[in-house]
Amino acid sequence: MTKPEHLLEVHDLDAAGKTYASALEVDWVTRALDGCDVTATAAGQVEVRFSKSGDDVVIRGRVRQPLTAPCARCLAPAPIDVDTELSLLLVPASSQKASYARGKSGPPDDPRREETNPGDSDLDVYDGDHVALDDFVREAILLEVPPFPLCAAACPGIGATPQAPVPTDGDIDPRLQPLLALSARLKKDRKD
Ligand SMILES: [Zn+2]
Repeated sequence: MTKPEHLLEVHDLDAAGKTYASALEVDWVTRALDGCDVTATAAGQVEVRFSKSGDDVVIRGRVRQPLTAPCARCLAPAPIDVDTELSLLLVPASSQKASYARGKSGPPDDPRREETNPGDSDLDVYDGDHVALDDFVREAILLEVPPFPLCAAACPGIGATPQAPVPTDGDIDPRLQPLLALSARLKKDRKD
């Protein structure tokens, strides 16, 4: 991703903390989710409360973003209303905990692998006076995109209508004729 736009100033942060709120412009979302099969339908919103806990930065908040993705069955736009929590724990990049954060999450140079382990606060690292929220917001949004988005739960899919034609006597498999006759007889018996 290009230059981060959602920066938290953590230089003089204390335990009381601060609030950051910003719109997620359609432009930003489009760039952030480039290559993913989703489209922002309107601006979203990120709102977090962030504070220091010792040397760590604790971030808690919410991400809202209206999206659409192609329906997995018919390709029509399927609405996805992302409304999710953002919960992060960032340790200084120079600290011992930072190496723990890297170690427990796979490749040593990629602490971002944490995203496969939602639930608890993600343990991540920060470096310097700012924390860029961009990648975290991006991950939070992507986690909410279903693997098989549907335009409607009952979407029949493309070409579903003629999929099961009602058999007529003319084109039915001859091997099924005895069964058909039996079924007709049973129906008749039930009516009698
Ligand atoms: Zn559909």
